[in-house]
Amino acid sequence: MTYEAWFQCFHGCPGRYSVYDVIYRCPTCGGLLEVVHNVEALKNRSAAAWMRIMEDRAGTTQWPYGSGVWRYKEWVLPNIDNENIVSMFEGNTNLFQATRLGEQIGVPDLWVKLCGNSHTGSFKDLGMTVLVSAVQQMRAMGKPIRAVAAASTGDTSAALAAYAAAAGIPAIVILPQGKVSVDQLIQPIANGALVLALDTDFDGCMRVVQEITKDETIYLANSMNSLRIEGQKTVSIEIVQQFDWAVPDWIIIPVGNLGNISALGKGLLLLKELGIINKLPRLVAAQAERANPLYRSYQTGFKEKVTIKAQPTLASAIQIGNPVSYDKAVKTLQMFDGIVEQATEDELANAAAVADRTGMYTCPHTGVALAVLFKLVKRGIIKKDDQVVVISTAHGLKFTQFKVGYHENTLDGVVARHANPPIYLPPDPTVVQDTIRRRLDKMERMERDWWDKEW
Ligand SMILES: *Cc1c(COP(=O)(O)O)cnc(C)c1O
Ligand SMILES: [Zn+2]
Repeated sequence: MTYEAWFQCFHGCPGRYSVYDVIYRCPTCGGLLEVVHNVEALKNRSAAAWMRIMEDRAGTTQWPYGSGVWRYKEWVLPNIDNENIVSMFEGNTNLFQATRLGEQIGVPDLWVKLCGNSHTGSFKDLGMTVLVSAVQQMRAMGKPIRAVAAASTGDTSAALAAYAAAAGIPAIVILPQGKVSVDQLIQPIANGALVLALDTDFDGCMRVVQEITKDETIYLANSMNSLRIEGQKTVSIEIVQQFDWAVPDWIIIPVGNLGNISALGKGLLLLKELGIINKLPRLVAAQAERANPLYRSYQTGFKEKVTIKAQPTLASAIQIGNPVSYDKAVKTLQMFDGIVEQATEDELANAAAVADRTGMYTCPHTGVALAVLFKLVKRGIIKKDDQVVVISTAHGLKFTQFKVGYHENTLDGVVARHANPPIYLPPDPTVVQDTIRRRLDKMERMERDWWDKEW
């Protein structure tokens, strides 16, 4: 038996399609597709043998296994030629114990998976290396694909532009004007993508990109294309490997279009099928209150999909009102005894700030996840002995205006309780000395008691 993967309808309609066909939805029901693997073939190798292979590959420079995605090539996209893989050795991100923050909130076994420490500064690299590699393979097979295109809240476009540029494939990115950070906007510009800023929101951009990719020479790179999910599922696989193949009690992730949580679940289920793990963590989907369609749907027991007009939020990468991977996410949450919780602007910004005070440099989406963590701990749902992983989805340096606004206390809807603006002084040693003395006392006081108050 050979390792292979193909597209199949997520809702179970009959029919298999090549992953190198230009197809994004089921022709029968219109639902999303998913990549299905020949798991029986994978099971011919024992769990122990797989684990040894993946351990040997970790940290290598050997093409393409030095990538945190392609290390797991047989589990991701087995039937691709190595020479068509487009990779910058993404993934391999650090999973570290957030000791000080964990102590402050009374959950010492708290860990952060820093997906922002990847090539373009977000976890979007993981899916994009797979999608762009597949396009490279399709072009090598003679398929007439001229360009790749995606609507984006900022990080997808950065990743698409970088990987397409590395492959020499033209990229088209469609952004909601004024709704992505300056840092995110400049990334695809620098990488030579065609950057189209539309006077609408992400959901509006998503509608446009689905129209323009009806032309089969322009390949759709959004996460409704399930090739992206195959790459992103390596986040949960890598976490488990980093824990020496053990499973944490909780994984918390900030969600928007819901591809990422679906991917987390898919990676874990594969590990379970292969006999590498025998329990599953509980998953928590964290949403911004201003863009909370999944939270609203969760409140009704997922009776039906809720679609809203998402309001502007500091967590701009998750300002999405009509999440495309809704069905996949609901199924995942149901299988993983999942929880959906939300955070206000005030909560997410202050949560990011208290984490920064312990040495992190968190993006606003990670702030959403942390705020949700704090709520679940205060409510006693997450317990003091639980092992918890918070997925930090992007690098804080991509959101400088958010940090500046916080520390200047000028953010809408936020009281910056942990603002730390610079102090301007004359070059007078006495004044400087007095100021240091006064401020050190205050700093020590502030560090002690934030958890017992409103953070
Ligand atoms: C894309 C993104 C998310 C949300 O991922 P979805 O798959 O859309 O749910 C969260 N955080 C950051 C930083 C992102 O770029
Ligand atoms: Zn179908």
